[in-house]
Amino acid sequence: VPVPRLEDVDPWDTLVCAVDTVEARWSIQRRAGGATIISLAVHDLLYSVLRVVPSGRCLLCKHPYDPELAMTQRAARWGVPLETVREWTAAGRMVVAEMIDLLARTQAKPASAFGELLGVPFTETPRLPECGSKSLRADVPSQAPVLPLATTAVAAIGAAEVVKHSSGLAPLDNWLTHDLPRNPSGPWSNSRRPHDECDHGVR
Ligand SMILES: [Zn+2]
Repeated sequence: VPVPRLEDVDPWDTLVCAVDTVEARWSIQRRAGGATIISLAVHDLLYSVLRVVPSGRCLLCKHPYDPELAMTQRAARWGVPLETVREWTAAGRMVVAEMIDLLARTQAKPASAFGELLGVPFTETPRLPECGSKSLRADVPSQAPVLPLATTAVAAIGAAEVVKHSSGLAPLDNWLTHDLPRNPSGPWSNSRRPHDECDHGVR
């Protein structure tokens, strides 16, 4: 999904960030200017809302910049060390059957599930979905119906933050997570110090 050209509609007052990749979040943080960012994210049945404020964490604190992110995500997906991915990438390797066996074992699926990757340049293979090695299986009938539980919840909280922001009610400070399978435990929201090395996207 192409990242919108934020500079074309400057200045923004409020940005709701609901993108799917870490790179897109970096881009939004770096180009948001003085806008308030309300970032929504879902991982399995855990949802989180981050309202970026100067005294709290930003999207670059949440996802520290990693120039090797694509390789890191492929290493996790294929179950190989980062060094191996660096070698495959530098050598321009095509995917062979032995590599598919590794992938299949890591993903606990039959090798035939990845047959279409045979002969594809390794650097063009899909990466791990962000945030971890385990993702919700939307193709499993028993799991597909639960996905909206998290996405609906995070959208409702995001909408509430927009209303609070525009009506002057006390907004979220600065971070909220709720893992739906667990009982909510306090505090409901958390202000977290920015990371010392983070420039908050200010260049
Ligand atoms: Zn930051």
